[in-house]
Amino acid sequence: MSKICANPECKLEYEPNAHNAKYCSPECRRVVTNKRVLERYHESKKEVVNDRTCEECPTQLSIYNPDNVCAGCKAKKLGIKVREMGISKELVEEMYEIAQKNQ
Ligand SMILES: [Zn+2]
Ligand SMILES: [Zn+2]
Repeated sequence: MSKICANPECKLEYEPNAHNAKYCSPECRRVVTNKRVLERYHESKKEVVNDRTCEECPTQLSIYNPDNVCAGCKAKKLGIKVREMGISKELVEEMYEIAQKNQ
């Protein structure tokens, strides 16, 4: 029984088998998968745009920061003076994570 390709830009009739359950060709599967990946990418960008700010100060949070406080405030909580000690934000993030785990 023939099926219609699930790629909306193709819609060719084809004979499905184990390797092409939804699409007429690997090319069509790739096109649709790429589109989904792109859409998801844009979705996540949207989430990032609704800009989160730090709970304790007006600093905008980095998209890589999963927490509600900025690196500066994390450092404060940890009692580290970032500037004085020349510690990188990344290291603060790491130390904060460890401190959270040990609580
Ligand atoms: Zn197709
Ligand atoms: Zn902050």
